[in-house]
Amino acid sequence: MTGIIITAHNLPLDNHFASLPPAFYTRLMPTPLPSPYFVAASAPAAALVGLDSARLAEADYVELLSGNKVAERSQPLSAVYSGHQFGNWAGQLGDGRAILLGDIATPAGAIELQLKGAGATPYSRMGDGRAVLRSSIREFLCSEAMAALGIPTSRALAIMGSQQGIVRETVETAAVVTRMAPSFVRFGSFEHWFYRKRPEELKVLADYVIDSLYPQLRDAANPYQALLAEACVRTAEMIAQWQAVGFMHGVMNTDNMSILGLTLDYGPFGFMEAFDADHICNHTDQQGRYSYGNQPQVGHWNCYALGQALLPLIGEVALAQAALDSYQPAFAAKMSELLHAKLGLLTEQDGDTQLFDGMFALMQANHVDFTNFFRALGNLQVAAPEADTPLRDMLIDRTGFDAWALQYRARLAAENSVDAIRKTAMDRVNPKYVLRNYLAQVAIEKAQQQDYTEIARLLAILEKPFDEQPEDQHYAALPPDWASHLEVSCSS
Ligand code: AMP
Ligand code: MG
Repeated sequence: MTGIIITAHNLPLDNHFASLPPAFYTRLMPTPLPSPYFVAASAPAAALVGLDSARLAEADYVELLSGNKVAERSQPLSAVYSGHQFGNWAGQLGDGRAILLGDIATPAGAIELQLKGAGATPYSRMGDGRAVLRSSIREFLCSEAMAALGIPTSRALAIMGSQQGIVRETVETAAVVTRMAPSFVRFGSFEHWFYRKRPEELKVLADYVIDSLYPQLRDAANPYQALLAEACVRTAEMIAQWQAVGFMHGVMNTDNMSILGLTLDYGPFGFMEAFDADHICNHTDQQGRYSYGNQPQVGHWNCYALGQALLPLIGEVALAQAALDSYQPAFAAKMSELLHAKLGLLTEQDGDTQLFDGMFALMQANHVDFTNFFRALGNLQVAAPEADTPLRDMLIDRTGFDAWALQYRARLAAENSVDAIRKTAMDRVNPKYVLRNYLAQVAIEKAQQQDYTEIARLLAILEKPFDEQPEDQHYAALPPDWASHLEVSCSS
């Protein structure tokens, strides 16, 4: 591309998804927003698609990423999908407020650019096709925070805002987030054709996904079974990574489950603070279907929904079952690997499960702060229990802690663990900084007063979640009293 300067206008967009038959999507233009302005951009996300984030504040990019202008080569579209919501078949859903602009070729493969909140589509049902600034900031920050934690996720390139009023519980202002992923195909994209009894379209979609995203599965004895198995393993490993940082998605409906095993559709998510395995982060989820402790088994349930949808292609129930059976071992193996790393253990030993269970029981009984507990655990010294004080003081039940710490020390001694080396390794897997709800809330409230500096500051901190960042210690602090009343719901 020597000599060609990339601008918002000549963005080198293809649209591989548009090669699918028209039944898979509707071509449409985004709906312009009045006087859009720049709110935030992610430099690492921009770099992934060869863009300079500093330029995204320029007028032509603001126009492009708010949906007010469309790049020369863009063929925007919204995709159709269906899904199970809270365990019930919901029928057709689809991109009710998401518009795919196209994809950009990168050394790591094509990456799709999608506007979220760019206006009504044929799949909007009763919705307005818009997203409010509040939820856009949450999605933007969390996407980038999860990526920095090393967790598979869709990315967020930028947020553009507008003073356009949007009615939710109150009137808020509109924003558009540009999301990026190799694909936004969901479990529900397959369920759509299964429940419509359209095996031909089902096959077209599965072949498209295999050929464009999982080409290595083409040579499998049964590529559709291999696709299901791969989706199961990726989903299981992603959820193990969620559990290991205390992330709760909040709405694990099958229409929010990525066929690539990416964390997708950030809404009423949360990071665990005072530990409670039954914690429900989504205020709308009264039954706790998507509580922290339920996430692993809900992931498996969702894989069953995908397996059901792929069954006509796989051919035999036994083959689908065999693929689904890969979920549990994949989850257990990943969880064990992550917990060993979180405790700085280099080997696997009999009794490790009891050690982990004992730790979670202690965390539960003491409602200890998830992130800070694991971070502090890295400071433990094998031969110096007297140095435990800051860690020990996080718990009310000090005797309980002492009993557990005795086991942990014995376990560390058994593998000749070296304090300094272990701490360095633990600090690389136990983040100091996560997107606590109150931190997002502060950034949101400032942004609602047209001050976007806190978004940029939080983003910079969350891009290095494992670094100490001494000048920003207070971003690792427990939630203040006012934050105990914060509620997040599906309203976005
Ligand atoms: P979610 O659970 O937020 O991922 O959304 C479920 C479905 O509702 C999807 O089909 C979304 O596109 C659609 N949806 C959510 N909010 C809106 C909105 N404001 N306007 C149109 N569709 C929406
Ligand atoms: Mg969704």
